[in-house]
Amino acid sequence: MNVESIKKVAVVGAGTMGQGIAQVCAQAGFSVILFDLESSLTDKALLKIKESLVQLVSKNKITAQQQDDILSRIEATNDLHDLQAEIVIEAVIEKLEAKQKIFSALEGINNNQSIFTTNTSSIPVTQIASGLRHAERFAGLHFFNPAPVMKLVEVIRGVATNESTVTLLKDFCKKIGKTSVEATDSPGFIVNRVARHFYVESLKALEENVTTHEGIDQLMKNAGFKMGPFELMDLIGVDVNFSVTNSVYNGFHQDGKFRPSRIQQQKVDAGHYGRKSGKGFYEYPKK
Ligand code: NAD
Repeated sequence: MNVESIKKVAVVGAGTMGQGIAQVCAQAGFSVILFDLESSLTDKALLKIKESLVQLVSKNKITAQQQDDILSRIEATNDLHDLQAEIVIEAVIEKLEAKQKIFSALEGINNNQSIFTTNTSSIPVTQIASGLRHAERFAGLHFFNPAPVMKLVEVIRGVATNESTVTLLKDFCKKIGKTSVEATDSPGFIVNRVARHFYVESLKALEENVTTHEGIDQLMKNAGFKMGPFELMDLIGVDVNFSVTNSVYNGFHQDGKFRPSRIQQQKVDAGHYGRKSGKGFYEYPKK
């Protein structure tokens, strides 16, 4: 299969990343089928995508007609059996079992050309693909948050991923206006491995009362970073960021330099996930 044969993209998970990825694919002209567990979740996702497109119209980046066309290309479903497509992009919670279960179901209902990808931030791609009959057509396709804005996508080759899958995914990234970088299947891939210290060290400084989280954010921005670590954790999702740190920590055999923070654990226990829950390190008034 080549990139021209791709007509439909299935996006599994309509949370922060799934919404953005669905929007990006529809903007590039693909039909998108977007899945989440319940209609309340897919309804919310469609609303968020609409809000994001309305903003693009107000900034004259797209026309009102284009907004309607893009939205008309996105269909929502709560039935996994509807997810038949040339490319599947999974963006559900960062849990190995959930991802494996989805792919084994989707492999059974898709044809023998479909490409399966995961947007995991940190779970080994090879591990997600284990148990699949066609792990050669499986790879990581790691978008960054917010997906409609961030240009980079890491294409991660699992042990069994074949060359034509990697080539197709790189072509696909180009078609949706992204810059792809190939990464091997090592803990945290590239960006999340390097960036881990941005979060872990900042949390350590907070634990040691070096200063407040607002203070650290302010200082890092003054030092040239676009966002401070705590603002960024709230944007990413404190729960998602915590899962990633755990995966990288375990992936490097509990290397102390990646040790997850108790502060982050407490935020997750309290349901303070950041922007998506209305409260994380900061508070976000409901719109
Ligand atoms: P999220 O919590 O915002 O959304 C996850 C969605 O998946 C939820 O709506 C949930 O209902 C849904 N879902 C669908 N099927 C599911 C199932 N079978 N089991 C459990 N949940 C199911 O998470 P997110 O931030 O969009 O992250 C999704 C994936 O993308 C994760 O693997 C994460 O590591 C990765 N990722 C996240 C970011 C980020 O900044 N948030 C960036 C890059 C990659």
